[in-house]
Amino acid sequence: MENKVLIINTGGTIGMVGKPLRPAYNWSEITKGYSMLEKFPTDYYQFEKLIDSSDVTTDFWINLVEVIEKNYDKYLGFVILHGTDTMAYTGSMLSFLLKNLAKPVVLTGAQAPMVNPRSDGLQNLINSIYIAGHKLFDTPLIPEVCICFRDSLLRANRSKKTDSNNYYGFSSPNYNPLAEIATEIKVISDRILKIPNEKFYVEKNIDANVLLLELFPGLNSKYISDFIESNKNIKALILKTYGSGNTPTSEDFIETLKSISKKGIPILDITQCISGSVKMPLYESTDKLSKLGIINGSDITSEAGLTKMMYLLGKNLSLQEIKNAFTSSICGEQTV
Ligand code: ASP
Repeated sequence: MENKVLIINTGGTIGMVGKPLRPAYNWSEITKGYSMLEKFPTDYYQFEKLIDSSDVTTDFWINLVEVIEKNYDKYLGFVILHGTDTMAYTGSMLSFLLKNLAKPVVLTGAQAPMVNPRSDGLQNLINSIYIAGHKLFDTPLIPEVCICFRDSLLRANRSKKTDSNNYYGFSSPNYNPLAEIATEIKVISDRILKIPNEKFYVEKNIDANVLLLELFPGLNSKYISDFIESNKNIKALILKTYGSGNTPTSEDFIETLKSISKKGIPILDITQCISGSVKMPLYESTDKLSKLGIINGSDITSEAGLTKMMYLLGKNLSLQEIKNAFTSSICGEQTV
């Protein structure tokens, strides 16, 4: 017990084979040709249906946390093989659902399948095993959900897929990497969350009745109000705004937000920029928004902002409690 790493395969390119690419039937089909993997102390668990991560759903997240919950005491850490497309969403959601996490949960994948000799998969997988298996490899314990890709270990809820092609596929623009991966794995300890004292547990309520909307010049604000009007289940609106959190200042637009706000629907302001943060109030625009009670998303990524909102809605919190949750950080997802 406790001297192994559990590899959880959910799908994605890393484990695909054949032409056209399809998910492998089993682990040996993925790793044949890589006999060195046999020497690592790992067990393997495979999701019944391996998926392209564009098919990730809220049920998928619940299944995943249940696998970790069931196996939590048996392993040193976990490596999750996952498609890169929505890895940052899954990583963010896991960071909110896995409470008092005291073991590494490392998501990884690849831009090219492992059966391709030029794949980045083998290196990503072995580095992830080193991090998840910490004490077996003299690597410091990182009690976080992270993404291991190419030369860095990133906090998952700070990460984004920023390249669909390049082997350096992920970035964490507003938070420096937890570890630099080169000939040595250099963990930067003051960037890592503290090991919690309380007992690990898992939360399983997610409410995905959220609308995420990216602003663009020419957007007709009536589309927003019509959409909200005709979809009574929507419980939160997330706006990906310009620059430091700016939206149009026209009466039309502001009135639209005001009427949505009056319904008690939280509106979260996140910047479209890859890095930097919302500043409220800085310009006339954000001054108006803050007077309307729009929530300042600070420097949170849209992936973490969206999943944090789904997680908070799942807890049936009041509007004020949701607002408060975005002025603090649950597990390092935003600067406060
Ligand atoms: N479409 C794939 C997925 O996200 C891409 C990848 O794995 O890199 O599952």
